Amino acid sequence: MDDCIFCKIINNEIPSTTIYEDDDIKAFFDISQVTPGHTLVVPKKHVKDIFAYDEDLAERVFKKVPMIARAIKASNPDIIGMNICQNNGEIAYQSVMHSHIHLVPRYSKDDDFS
Ligand code: 5GP
Ligand code: ZN
Repeated sequence: MDDCIFCKIINNEIPSTTIYEDDDIKAFFDISQVTPGHTLVVPKKHVKDIFAYDEDLAERVFKKVPMIARAIKASNPDIIGMNICQNNGEIAYQSVMHSHIHLVPRYSKDDDFS
């Protein structure tokens, strides 16, 4: 997709802070960090939203989320929890129309980020 910002990040046409990458996904920091370490897990294949996944792609993408969550948690002992969410469709606040999963670490002193 020529005009897709996440496809450009996947193709390294736009820089990102990438924490994990393989044949199926790229995980990089959200440009607007809800809390430090806020990461997006993005399939390399351009799929618009959850409704566009076939089962094979869904398995290859979503099964890696726990591994990435563990890696983020292991990076900072102050991380004591994590919100994982996905917005599908404008009505659900999806703003980038290339499917992605938000991983938002939660800290004991989360009040600092509200
Ligand atoms: P959505 O609102 O679609 O669930 O989430 C899209 C996310 O993409 C937002 O949290 C936004 O900050 C992030 N985002 C938008 N443009 C860029 C960008 O160019 N680079 C990175 N790393 N994140 C982006
Ligand atoms: Zn895309």
